[in-house]
Amino acid sequence: MNIIIKPLMKCRLCGSKLQVYEKLTRIPTKGLRFTNSICCEVEFYDTVLYICPLCELYQIPDLENFSDFYNFSNTKYIKSLNKERLSLFNELLLFSEKQESILGIEDVGFSQKINVNGKKLLTINPEQLCKKGGGENNHFVLEKSFMADFMPEHCFDIFYTICPLAHVDNPLTIMKDVNHLLKEGGVGWIEVLNGSTLVNESQYYNFMPILLNYWTPLSLTKLLQLSGFETLLIKHGLGGDELNVIFKKPLKRVPLMQKRDFQENSILDIVKKHKKIVIWGAGAKGCYLISSFSDRLKVSHIVDDNPEKHGLYMPGASLCVEAPSKDIFLNADLVIIFAVSHEKEIKKILHEKYGYTGEIFCLTEN
Ligand SMILES: [Zn+2]
Repeated sequence: MNIIIKPLMKCRLCGSKLQVYEKLTRIPTKGLRFTNSICCEVEFYDTVLYICPLCELYQIPDLENFSDFYNFSNTKYIKSLNKERLSLFNELLLFSEKQESILGIEDVGFSQKINVNGKKLLTINPEQLCKKGGGENNHFVLEKSFMADFMPEHCFDIFYTICPLAHVDNPLTIMKDVNHLLKEGGVGWIEVLNGSTLVNESQYYNFMPILLNYWTPLSLTKLLQLSGFETLLIKHGLGGDELNVIFKKPLKRVPLMQKRDFQENSILDIVKKHKKIVIWGAGAKGCYLISSFSDRLKVSHIVDDNPEKHGLYMPGASLCVEAPSKDIFLNADLVIIFAVSHEKEIKKILHEKYGYTGEIFCLTEN
């Protein structure tokens, strides 16, 4: 068979001009394609391993007339790997507030390991998404139209994919689609072969036509950044041969001053309806807002747990910071909590220790 190499001029991820990293010669075309009968015909071809100077993604050109995909989901090797994956998956769940719906792209049987327990789980086998058509290769492509027809946007809490990003020529499109499918605050996990290890340990046998992209921590981080995600964690797997990355779809950002104005106005609104107001929290947020309000905010007390602040004045405040006490909350009708990270415990103390029954207003982080 006459091997036709698809020209590869630009980085598949960032579009930069690629540099030759090393010329690869006598690469067997059939890689890991096992057959039921004897196959003595072995073909070889010469290709090039490129590196992107900007994002550090190692890449080899795709073949025009080549198809290969293998599935060894039942091997002992995959089974032990799945154990390692399961512990990483459980770590992933800890990063997400909700775990109701899960989307997986994999063909290694990992979904059967997941404790579904009332969760919605959808697994896509990469092979089902292969581009069809005569002469096309079998490297799957997640079509945007397919995703849009198939699933509504922002419907998953959790995403994971095992391996496919090594085989695709459009990794950025795929991850942008994933962004489209994940809810805000949703988290994901990618597992790929570790390109850095393969190159640094000269693992020549792992450079084969089926593997187009060899990811490194830098290129994975770049992929996530370009597709609108925040990288939370990068970890080696399988003694360094695999790379795992956990990421998050950030919540929509509100401009800083818009948030400040919104919070100031909500405080001014609520204090109008109350007479005896106590502020709880003399941290950065408390100082900023007290300074900013100056005499527009009349309060009876400012309290904080930190004894080092007791007896001291915040900038712009005419009252000193006090330790919380039953007397302070006795006749109060509004407590404003600035110390939002301690909201739950402050509310508990107010109710249980001081018997406070008035209104509580907390400035949430979001
Ligand atoms: Zn690049």
